[in-house]
Amino acid sequence: MKPDKHSRRQFISTGARASIALGLGGSLIAGATQAADAPQPAAWTESPLFQTPYHQTPLPYDYGALEPSIDAMTMEIHYTKHAAAYTKNLNEAAVAEKVDTSKPLEALLARINKYSEKLRNNAGGHYNHEMFWKSMKAPASDNAPGGSLQAAIDSKFGGFDKLKTVFGDAAKARFGSGWAWLILKDKSLLVTSTPNQDNPLMPVAGTTGIPLLGLDVWEHAYYLKYQNKRPDYIGSWWNVVNWDYVQQRFDTAMK
Ligand code: MN
Repeated sequence: MKPDKHSRRQFISTGARASIALGLGGSLIAGATQAADAPQPAAWTESPLFQTPYHQTPLPYDYGALEPSIDAMTMEIHYTKHAAAYTKNLNEAAVAEKVDTSKPLEALLARINKYSEKLRNNAGGHYNHEMFWKSMKAPASDNAPGGSLQAAIDSKFGGFDKLKTVFGDAAKARFGSGWAWLILKDKSLLVTSTPNQDNPLMPVAGTTGIPLLGLDVWEHAYYLKYQNKRPDYIGSWWNVVNWDYVQQRFDTAMK
């Protein structure tokens, strides 16, 4: 759904309220006039939760902490090789394309269509992985969302099990490499997926919004342990989702 001209002008001139900027910001900026060419970090980026730096932050747990859902060797290679390469290449491209790296990465992602394919792939790669690590924790039994997020999931999807089905289907259906997402768009939950290292903050995403939770379905994320069995990886991953973190993102994005 496209915003009308009035709301577009309003966004550019006054800045939008937190969640509106996120939900619509990408598509607004994508087709926008000169005024939107200046970096427009949305209000929600004021929260540290939505300020991703241009360097890798330390893993919040050991490589083996997510066993048996995700094995230690996969975690180590994923973090120190794959994700590290995105970060390195992001910084190279940012220098070459004169990106203001004092601003959060989210501000760049919101106007990534102005930059090269290299910047798009690696800015997305860095952002997606930084969020991915934080959205996991040691496995727990009965691991499920609670509080207001649970209520929103119940109301939108008809329960956590239904969300798992919808999200799992999106993750399985993503052809080749990419991500499945739980996002907030216009203060409503939505499941989407993106190819490669794209994400819902990018104007190029089919559906833009605030990412609350993302699942990496590149083979490098699961192949050592699960080989071709992506559905088994998805099923086991639910045990290590850090719902406290997802709830914090949800709370902040809803403000
Ligand atoms: Mn990955």
